[in-house]
Amino acid sequence: MRSGGDTGLERGQACGPQDGDETRHGRRGRLTVIGLGPGDAALLAPLAAEALGTAGMVAGYATYIDLVPPELLAGKEVMATGMTGEVARCRAALEAAAAGKRVALVSSGDAGVYGMAGLALEMLDAMGLADRMDFDVVPGIPAVCAAAALLGAPLTHDFAVVSLSDLLTPLEVIRRRLDAALAADFVLALYNPRSRRRSGYLEEALALAGRHRDPQTPVGMVKNAFRPGQEIRVSPLAGADPAFADMLTLVVIGNAATRLAAGRMLTPRGYAEKYTLEG
Ligand code: SAH
Repeated sequence: MRSGGDTGLERGQACGPQDGDETRHGRRGRLTVIGLGPGDAALLAPLAAEALGTAGMVAGYATYIDLVPPELLAGKEVMATGMTGEVARCRAALEAAAAGKRVALVSSGDAGVYGMAGLALEMLDAMGLADRMDFDVVPGIPAVCAAAALLGAPLTHDFAVVSLSDLLTPLEVIRRRLDAALAADFVLALYNPRSRRRSGYLEEALALAGRHRDPQTPVGMVKNAFRPGQEIRVSPLAGADPAFADMLTLVVIGNAATRLAAGRMLTPRGYAEKYTLEG
């Protein structure tokens, strides 16, 4: 995908000038899609900070731009747009890169997890711009990992991730995936669990879980992980309160083996069956 035949991002050279950077049309632009992590600047990957530092323009949803440490935005062109402007934002970022700019397009968490990396790649292809710019994705810590860390270790065995947002996915598909993941005994992580418009979806997902899981199965909810207002709640499935969740909450429903250990949520990998773990 990147012209010149290089296969990936070299650590420490992510966005620095490269040989062959100039084309006969002028400076070769670059679009770097960056995951900012859950919010705390300490969880912004050094490679992401470096890519932001070398960008001339930073584009993203206004709330995500707010997650960028201000010193990394100093002297840069900033294009902050509203939540529903994803396609317009992406097009503007691609056009700026096609014109020779170094553009950083930011998402929270990991940009490839319900983030802008997919749309950017889709539009890079659809707009026929792949040969006109460099394109990179820099990973970030996704909310599912940030939340899991705060809950304990709920994802240590197989897990599935489903978004409850039906903005781009038909509700029937969401329901089918929830049911299949629960039936297969995956630990289930839920993104976008609740909004004002979709206030009943999490309740429905928990009710569905009740048909596949013991009522005592731990359910963890983390609101604002690694951001101001962080709240962590673990309750048995039968007592899980969907009203606690909002759009900045990540929900983890345990599998048949998930339990509490030392007050945290644990899905054991199976070591206890093979080894003696007592002191
Ligand atoms: N690219 C992001 C996901 C964006 S979708 C990632 O990799 O995590 C937005 C959803 O992510 C929210 O509805 C919420 O479910 C979850 N989320 C994002 N940041 C979060 C945080 N700090 N705490 C809890 N959930 C978060």
